[in-house]
Amino acid sequence: MSPRKRGKLVVISGPSGVGKSTITREVIQRTGAEYSVSATTRPPRPGETDGKDYRFVDRDAFERMIRQDQLLEWAEVFGNLYGTPAEPVRQAVRDGRAIVLEIDVQGGVQVHKKMPDAEFVLIVPPSEEELRRRLKGRGTEDAASYQARSDKAVEELRLARRSGAYRREVVNDDLHRAMDEIVTIVEA
Ligand code: ADP
Ligand code: 5GP
Repeated sequence: MSPRKRGKLVVISGPSGVGKSTITREVIQRTGAEYSVSATTRPPRPGETDGKDYRFVDRDAFERMIRQDQLLEWAEVFGNLYGTPAEPVRQAVRDGRAIVLEIDVQGGVQVHKKMPDAEFVLIVPPSEEELRRRLKGRGTEDAASYQARSDKAVEELRLARRSGAYRREVVNDDLHRAMDEIVTIVEA
């Protein structure tokens, strides 16, 4: 019997408000790939479900996960901790199922060190103004959080490009075209 084909790991990153969640949700639906549910100390937004969007945990529980080496990567983003539980990722890869991680660039760089053969996709906005418009339009951030997220955008794109981890860039101008590009990457 030939060994089972390993599952594909796809890491999606990009500045806050660029459209990562919108794109990832649709890509998961269309491809049947698994979504890696991150742990976070950020409080849930209206409409988010524990265990589906994130595992919402307190700082103590998160730090325990770090100590017990349960996270593939983790980072502090906008004052909260976010991390990828390692076991579901290993299991999907072992079982030959595609899995998608939607994480920030600091996390993507850590995954790249451990799993350089994964696909790393950077979603970029058509312009800085459009990014700010989307972030504002989403209406989920207070003034300080909005400012922090727009400030970090340029730095995050620079860091991603400098890291050499992200070999693919997808411009999210036309949403459906961007989704199609990422579906192709997941299914390739
Ligand atoms: P992220 O997950 O990267 O923070 P979201 O997926 O929450 O971003 O998208 C931010 C906002 O931009 C949402 O209100 C979303 O509906 C909108 N949006 C996403 N993609 C596009 C696009 N191509 N054109 C216009 N608006 C978009
Ligand atoms: P949000 O609070 O808007 O859901 O996410 C904020 C940022 O944290 C986004 O850039 C998102 O991609 C990132 N993020 C979400 N989950 C993880 C994770 O598990 N690890 C890392 N490093 N970043 C994450």
